[in-house]
Amino acid sequence: MTTIKNLLRKNISNLHPYSSARDEFTGEAMVFLDANENPFNEPYNRYPDPLQKKLKEKVAELKNIPAENIFLGNGSDEPIDLLIRAFCEPGTDNIITIDPTYGMYQVAADISGVELRKVALTTDFQLDTDAILQATDTNTKLIFLCSPNNPTGNSLEKEAILRLLNHFKGIVILDEAYTDFAPGKSLLPDLESFSNLIILQTFSKAWGMAGIRLGMAFASTEIIEILNKIKYPYNLNVLTQQKALELLNNKETVKEWIKLLIAEREKMAEQLKEFPFVVKIYPSDANFLLIKMHDAKGIYNYLVEKGIIVRDRSSVHLCDNSLRITIGTPEENNKLTEALNELI
Ligand SMILES: *Cc1c(COP(=O)(O)O)cnc(C)c1O
Repeated sequence: MTTIKNLLRKNISNLHPYSSARDEFTGEAMVFLDANENPFNEPYNRYPDPLQKKLKEKVAELKNIPAENIFLGNGSDEPIDLLIRAFCEPGTDNIITIDPTYGMYQVAADISGVELRKVALTTDFQLDTDAILQATDTNTKLIFLCSPNNPTGNSLEKEAILRLLNHFKGIVILDEAYTDFAPGKSLLPDLESFSNLIILQTFSKAWGMAGIRLGMAFASTEIIEILNKIKYPYNLNVLTQQKALELLNNKETVKEWIKLLIAEREKMAEQLKEFPFVVKIYPSDANFLLIKMHDAKGIYNYLVEKGIIVRDRSSVHLCDNSLRITIGTPEENNKLTEALNELI
């Protein structure tokens, strides 16, 4: 297999990373006069731990993955951007995504001036592995997969993902932002077997922490070291690290949320399929439903008038006339079905 080192951009390979005051001294000390901080206003006067050791230990325990195989970022959007910048030479290299999928891969590639090749999912929203492998060339560095996929909601078949991991000579990034809603389907237990696999997860969805911006990347130590080398030195602020440590002690509450949201999702699917303007409700492993309708735009506009905002995905490949509806509290979900009831 091509080694990770060979896939890396030359300038990143040769980069001397910024070395912060907190990087250079790691022992126990009483007096910190090394970083030009203000000595007043504890604890916010101090720069945060650049490698977030305490928080990583907690995440390691939660995910059963060694801390050295974990990168923490300002949302998973940060590692998405960093990976493109680390491995893809602008104007030369390319990446592959499935279509439809999460929009940030395209935005990050465009910002970096990196070509993105879209390969359509099959009509049942699964991977066409032959088409993906055919779309690759020697300059294809990364394949972005997303499972459960946004906006389709389904999990990708594991066999197909493994086939890409075994046959593609670059890196496969598997975005598992919704994995907490699909128990037993994460590829995290397989991480060790594939040096070219990167798994992304986030605290933004099931964990209810979108506002503090905290995402995770799991990979070989070689890849984690590359991400650490090119990230902003203090990418996670003190408040985020504190709040995350606090909320990680709240695992039982999160489990209850997940149970409730999955039950609400199933209830919503049952109720919505009775409406005459609903054509199809796609199976979901996530905290949202993709729903094909007779007049998605009309329904969307009607709901906006009622103060209810959903996402119109009609312009997206394979999703014509489809709305993506996030599962809210039981009260919020009732408001939606009541508003739709007034339409018939
Ligand atoms: C919501 C979402 C994310 C989360 O991104 P953050 O930056 O961690 O908030 C990542 N990937 C997908 C596919 C998503 O839908």
